[in-house]
Amino acid sequence: MAHQPIDEFCSSLNPSVKKAVTDASVLSTQARAECLGRAYDDCGEKLRELANSIRLSDIYSNFETAVKSLESHGVRVLFASDAKDAREIILDIIREKEAKSVVKVKSMTTEEIELNPFLIKNGVETVETDLGELIIQIENEKPSHIVKPAIHRKRDDIARSFEKHGIGAYDEEPSHITLNARKYLRRKYFAADVVISGANYILAKEGAVVLATNEGNARFSMAGAKTHIAIAGFEKVVPSARELSVFLNLLARSATGQHSTIYTDFVRGVGGAKNSPLDMYVVFLDNGRSDILRGEFSEILKCMRCGACMNRCPVFRLVGGHAYRAVYPGPLGIVLSPLICKDGDYSDLPKACSLCGACAEVCPAKIPLPDLIVKMRDKMKREGARVPNDVNLKGWAFLASSPRLWRLAMRLNKLANFVPLSMVRFGPLGRWFKSRTLPKFKGGKFRKWFRKNG
Ligand code: SF4
Repeated sequence: MAHQPIDEFCSSLNPSVKKAVTDASVLSTQARAECLGRAYDDCGEKLRELANSIRLSDIYSNFETAVKSLESHGVRVLFASDAKDAREIILDIIREKEAKSVVKVKSMTTEEIELNPFLIKNGVETVETDLGELIIQIENEKPSHIVKPAIHRKRDDIARSFEKHGIGAYDEEPSHITLNARKYLRRKYFAADVVISGANYILAKEGAVVLATNEGNARFSMAGAKTHIAIAGFEKVVPSARELSVFLNLLARSATGQHSTIYTDFVRGVGGAKNSPLDMYVVFLDNGRSDILRGEFSEILKCMRCGACMNRCPVFRLVGGHAYRAVYPGPLGIVLSPLICKDGDYSDLPKACSLCGACAEVCPAKIPLPDLIVKMRDKMKREGARVPNDVNLKGWAFLASSPRLWRLAMRLNKLANFVPLSMVRFGPLGRWFKSRTLPKFKGGKFRKWFRKNG
């Protein structure tokens, strides 16, 4: 049986990393269930339905309203068709401001456009201010989870990494690691010219960018920098603060099992607060989103990037986010990555799913993830993508699509009971039977029963 790239990744994964990912995912799933259960008897079922119905409804008119409201508060609104366009727009602003250093607030959209390496290559010092993002940035890694980017790292190895990069002497006590990062980042906040953030939401009516963080780094970043650039897909627009309450009620509970993130910042134009940036830009990124909105995968744009689906996914728990290769991992990534990440081949990802349905049970936006994954498998097939195990299933497909052959096979399959499976020791089948056995074939009894009783 051919291995998929994700299997290869899993077999080479350090057991301690595997354990770190599994433990953290299980804990997050438990925390989500307890937190939502404490807040809502039905685990937020009605709220989830509401979230699904609000998101993307009237998106075009809400988007137009958002642009007008943002501009009325002195924000310059720009549009980027793809990742390259977005990177260049941001670099142009930085150059226009003659800025040398940037502090970043955690944003998956900036990961999607690979902003950090681009800015650094162009001579702009770029520092992540979220602790998890900082941990992976200094080691040139990519996030392995959309909420907890350093989920795969252990504290001793973070302490070693901090020592190596001059952030603090080796100390694996978590509060000391945090303190070292805090001291390091304070210097960066004061020196920064520009802050770049994503946007958890953009309020159309109020013209405000909403940022949810747990570390207060968004506020610190904005206190020092003179220019704020926020980048987001248009799907982040919600009608108003009234609807926002639905999403804020679900976001932190689904992501980390907290009733609310510690800080929720509403950034509404410039100059509203002491020391706030004097210029603000919002870059709306398309990068394939318009096509997705018009097509059969539009529901995926309702994602609120909480990570609950990956925490619950039995495949993600075993392999972690890097196994998915693209920026968005887990069930979300299986659908989204092939649609927006054009730099690689992700055609094998839809097979990295057992279709157990657990992701759909926890998704706060009630996105029918298993249905979308099946559709994505179909799309890959239609587009002729060759993925491992296709060949193995061809024989079965041939048999199953001919009723006459199938009936014959059902009668003959009793012979399989005489095959001594213990003799099958080598090759892929040997590996398979090491830990599995076959049920006794009964030779089409169900069909007989169904003809009589069905
Ligand atoms: S698909 Fe649903 S569960 Fe997964 S990250 Fe998005 S909102 Fe959360």
